Amino acid sequence: MAVHRVDGRRDETLADVYGQAVSRRPLPKYRVPDDLSDPRAVYALVHDELALDGNASQNLATFCTTWAEPEVHKLMDECLGKNMIDKDEYPQTAEIESRCVHLIADLWHAPAGADTAGCSTTGSSEAGMLAGLALKWRWRQRRQAEGKPADRPNLVCGPVQVCWEKFGRYFDVELRQVPLEPDATGLRPHQLRAHVDENTIGVVAILGVTYTCDYEPIADLAAELDAIHADTGLDVPLHVDAASGGFVAPFLQPDLVWDFRIPRVASINASGHKYGMAPLGVGWVVWRTAELLPEELVFRVSYLGGDMPTFALNFTRPGGEVVAQYYTLLRLGRAGYRAVHAACRESARELGRQVADMGPFTLLYDGDRALPAVSWTLTDPPGAGFTLYDVTDRLRRRGWQVPAYPLPPDRAETVIQRVLVRHGISFDKIMLLADDLRAVVGELTRPGTPAPHSAFHH
Ligand SMILES: *Cc1c(COP(=O)(O)O)cnc(C)c1O
Repeated sequence: MAVHRVDGRRDETLADVYGQAVSRRPLPKYRVPDDLSDPRAVYALVHDELALDGNASQNLATFCTTWAEPEVHKLMDECLGKNMIDKDEYPQTAEIESRCVHLIADLWHAPAGADTAGCSTTGSSEAGMLAGLALKWRWRQRRQAEGKPADRPNLVCGPVQVCWEKFGRYFDVELRQVPLEPDATGLRPHQLRAHVDENTIGVVAILGVTYTCDYEPIADLAAELDAIHADTGLDVPLHVDAASGGFVAPFLQPDLVWDFRIPRVASINASGHKYGMAPLGVGWVVWRTAELLPEELVFRVSYLGGDMPTFALNFTRPGGEVVAQYYTLLRLGRAGYRAVHAACRESARELGRQVADMGPFTLLYDGDRALPAVSWTLTDPPGAGFTLYDVTDRLRRRGWQVPAYPLPPDRAETVIQRVLVRHGISFDKIMLLADDLRAVVGELTRPGTPAPHSAFHH
């Protein structure tokens, strides 16, 4: 016989997450709630909101890591509380950062016997700012020693990523962006002479131009600066922004001379969280020799009774990304980086071949000689009957994020489209994208198709 007893107790820990009070109203947007809530329910609700974001594995716009091995997730979790700045509380994390600097400096052929200096940062933006500051300080010291004015510094570059525009504005340096020549994918050596002068703190060359994904010809740019030095006495250092190429070229193009093998290269930055395959939030900057980093920029914090130099814009910074970078370098080794990037390059090349065959497109970069990526334009924009923005919109319906954007201001009439292939994006996935792209082109060019509305907006 059953006893039916009602005790009135309600145990929230047993409640279904979608049945609880917190789940039956919109989540707070303007005021911190008064009461606690069940972590499972709050997690589920926040998790569900995040599903509205784009799907990272179909995001072909980003250079950044969107996939990592379980061991990386585990190390990130274990490092949750590790603060990069607390070198005395977390000396082993500091040691791991220092090992990464050595490994990366070696990858970039730091000169033998020299004291190379470098550090981790939150990304290439911070790394670029630090390198830019070192250039500015050195230029100013030189000018002051010569008794010359040092109040109008400039930095010469081609079509750079926005971080260099920020550097110019935040640190009062005129950014001299050399116009992109027709059909060029980046800065060309013969353009330098007209732009450098006695106030030039340095030239920034890009290994992996954000717009086109091609490498600028670093060795030829350096040779032109050597020639300018010989002809005019202007001795202008070269910084290489290798945000993405710094972790690609050493593996896919080992014979390409772009790094410290070139004496004029003073410093190099790269994003660990791009083709370095570390999780988001880590970059690297390395100076050819420690003397290139002015002492005034380095702060010393006491470290186990000793002395720990730091150069950074941030104070507190997570240690997990640096640890995960170390793991990835050890785990993959040179062979692993080569295998991952070579697979991406194969996918990019095949996509490039198919895009070229689709009809309306002209390849700007075919995925072969630089980053594992493809960029293209419309061959005949006025005659095409649609824009690349229309292509972006239609691909988005299948979840693909393939950006279309204008080239820098002086070439803004040219709109381009770009696909980056990275770790975790398989050949199969890229072939599915190619099929969808072909279908989109079919839809947009079918006779009698009404002109897409966005053709009038852009
Ligand atoms: C991505 C990128 C940057 C900025 O790097 P973050 O790591 O995102 O700060 C700078 N320069 C180039 C060429 C880039 O591709």
